[in-house]
Amino acid sequence: MTGYRGEFNDGRTAARHLVMVTLDDKGLGIVSDPDNPARIERLWSYSDLRLIDPPRKDTPLRLTNSNEADARLRLHDGGFLDGLQQRAPHLFLRGLARPRVRRNAIIVLLSFFLVVLFLWQGVPRLSGPLARLVPLEWEQKIGAIVRDRLLAGAQRCEAGAGTAALDELTRRLTLAMAAPPSLTVMVADRGMVNAFAMPAGNIVIFRGLLKSTESPEEVAAVLAHEIGHVYHRHPLQLAMRGLGIGMVTDLLTGDGSALVELAGELGGLLLLLSYNRDMERQADEFGRDLLRRADLPTGAMTRFFARLHKKMPSTNGDNILGYLNSHPPLEERMAAGGEEHAGPPALDDEAWRALKTICD
Ligand SMILES: [Zn+2]
Repeated sequence: MTGYRGEFNDGRTAARHLVMVTLDDKGLGIVSDPDNPARIERLWSYSDLRLIDPPRKDTPLRLTNSNEADARLRLHDGGFLDGLQQRAPHLFLRGLARPRVRRNAIIVLLSFFLVVLFLWQGVPRLSGPLARLVPLEWEQKIGAIVRDRLLAGAQRCEAGAGTAALDELTRRLTLAMAAPPSLTVMVADRGMVNAFAMPAGNIVIFRGLLKSTESPEEVAAVLAHEIGHVYHRHPLQLAMRGLGIGMVTDLLTGDGSALVELAGELGGLLLLLSYNRDMERQADEFGRDLLRRADLPTGAMTRFFARLHKKMPSTNGDNILGYLNSHPPLEERMAAGGEEHAGPPALDDEAWRALKTICD
């Protein structure tokens, strides 16, 4: 049997051993030079052999073994390469002919197919369960971006006493929750009659909506409804629908950067998307229950909506009625209202005046 001279390193020490390498039916044999005090004896089966780099003329061939991945065998002998090619042709297959490459290619294709399928019809349905997988840190980044887009230069109204009154209302509601979410509630100086819940517990009420309310209980009812969206993580689900591709890649790679980047691009668009009826119903239900637990009147929401309807009976596409358009019809709300809970005033007169004039 022909022996080839080579160098062996076991990967545990730096020592290089001169060895004789043989090729036979059982595998590749490695035996140390008789002068070598540390005896080396290996039999590597052909199926466990790995080429460290593709064979090239004039460079030594380097081999390892999948059971001893740190070990290295170097051979300079061109004759050895011919012998190995005969015994272990699978090592020299290229591209898709190699089983491992073929398997990886299949995995890539399959994942691609799944992602396409998922985006095509899965995101809306799966965004609920997936919202729970999104790390809080990403949600906070997305929330901040969407909020900045929504505010789009509008001033935040922060008159001291008004902010204190708003905080008091928020506190009263969250105290009634078993596990209160962290909320950032603010009033923005825009005339639109609207309020939004955004990812990471950001709630923005527009001056226009605040001016249309006639009691602190009505503001509390709007707030309770928006907290319902936060509680059910609707804002993040909505964001995910808009961010489908970014979300899928980020969840696969575990990196939040693409998601945050996309949130920036789509921040404006997200605001045009509205919650679906189921989400609105969930938020309404939650809001009503929360008002009851916080000992606040539950009928205020219905009264507020009834008044808006009266002022502007046509709801198709009217600019100031964004809030009405995106929310369940009044009749449905009244029907779902159930027995009305009455409670003490949500704020005293002075605090209520301060809140109403928070933007003045
Ligand atoms: Zn809503």
